[in-house]
Amino acid sequence: MRSATAVIDLAALQQNFSAIKKLAPQSKVLAVLKANAYGHGLERVAKALHQADAFGVARIEEALALRADGITQPIVLLEGFFAQDELPILVKNNLQTIVHSEQQLTALIQAKLDTPLKVWLKIDTGMHRLGIDPEQLPYFYQQLEASANVHKALTLMSHLGCADNTQDDATEAQLQRFSQLTADFDNDKSLANSAGIWAWPESHYHWVRPGLMLYGISPMLADDKSFYQEIKPVMSLQAGLIATRKITAGETVGYGGAWQSERDTIIGVVAIGYGDGYPRHAKNGTPVLLNGRRVPLVGRVSMDMITIDLGPDAQDKVGDIATLWGPSLNVAEVARNATTIPYELLCNISKRVNISVKT
Ligand SMILES: *Cc1c(COP(=O)(O)O)cnc(C)c1O
Repeated sequence: MRSATAVIDLAALQQNFSAIKKLAPQSKVLAVLKANAYGHGLERVAKALHQADAFGVARIEEALALRADGITQPIVLLEGFFAQDELPILVKNNLQTIVHSEQQLTALIQAKLDTPLKVWLKIDTGMHRLGIDPEQLPYFYQQLEASANVHKALTLMSHLGCADNTQDDATEAQLQRFSQLTADFDNDKSLANSAGIWAWPESHYHWVRPGLMLYGISPMLADDKSFYQEIKPVMSLQAGLIATRKITAGETVGYGGAWQSERDTIIGVVAIGYGDGYPRHAKNGTPVLLNGRRVPLVGRVSMDMITIDLGPDAQDKVGDIATLWGPSLNVAEVARNATTIPYELLCNISKRVNISVKT
């Protein structure tokens, strides 16, 4: 296939799931599938992860798509419901909700539901994004426990803001705060994202919530070779070479003439661009794999194409397949070249990209 194609390796996905179970053997796994399973395909990933104890999504539409596809495991809305009129939909589809705010508490308590909802109560332990203030915990706990709309028992949770950096003291502080706050509760507890699972065993508790790591990419800031002994990238992004041309030293390539060659060379054109989700801000020199070697991106990324410098002696042929990222070229390296993070590149894979599933 010459058009942009994401090859999804479901065996790698399942192997990553097993590696997570080994890292957190006492914990249940809530597999995070938001943003189309980080670009890997929501329903496809859910079906492959049939051993997951629950799934996490960000939007009610994602949860309903999973239910429509016959997924029966618990599904948790990681930001909770946004409006009271969604509550009957949650009940009807057996969805669980996070509660992180006063507005949600009031809406939930005042609703008239036929079946109680399972609630994950989110506490802000220092990230200051979502979550109730620690001093509100007794009040929220008591209100939720007393409501007929709420299934007992609650799960207590928080989220780590800096766990990707083992040098950052913020995580120790969050771990301590969560442990102290919840010490007197024998409810299920949950704190760990991928970075928590990998680097902070104290964060594991009853439920771990892996996202990026399931898809085979390290959540850590620093390169950690040992990570990739256990975990394998699930997506390979590929596209065909559709043209080659000789240019001479001093000639420029692409929009704005933004790159100028210092030598006579051969330029290759690959059928992928920002319309497929390849980052427009990838800079000159961003590696692309072709015929067993790395070649540099040159010139601006276009909507449908990129240009690469194949070198003066290149033998590459139209129809050869280039790899933009995958097991042999980490998406994190491409992300660094585009001043972004692997999360963004994976979930930006656009609708027109072909999917090819490997099992
Ligand atoms: C996205 C998300 C996760 C997963 O994060 P990763 O860094 O991808 O592992 C876990 N918990 C919550 C609440 C999230 O929103």
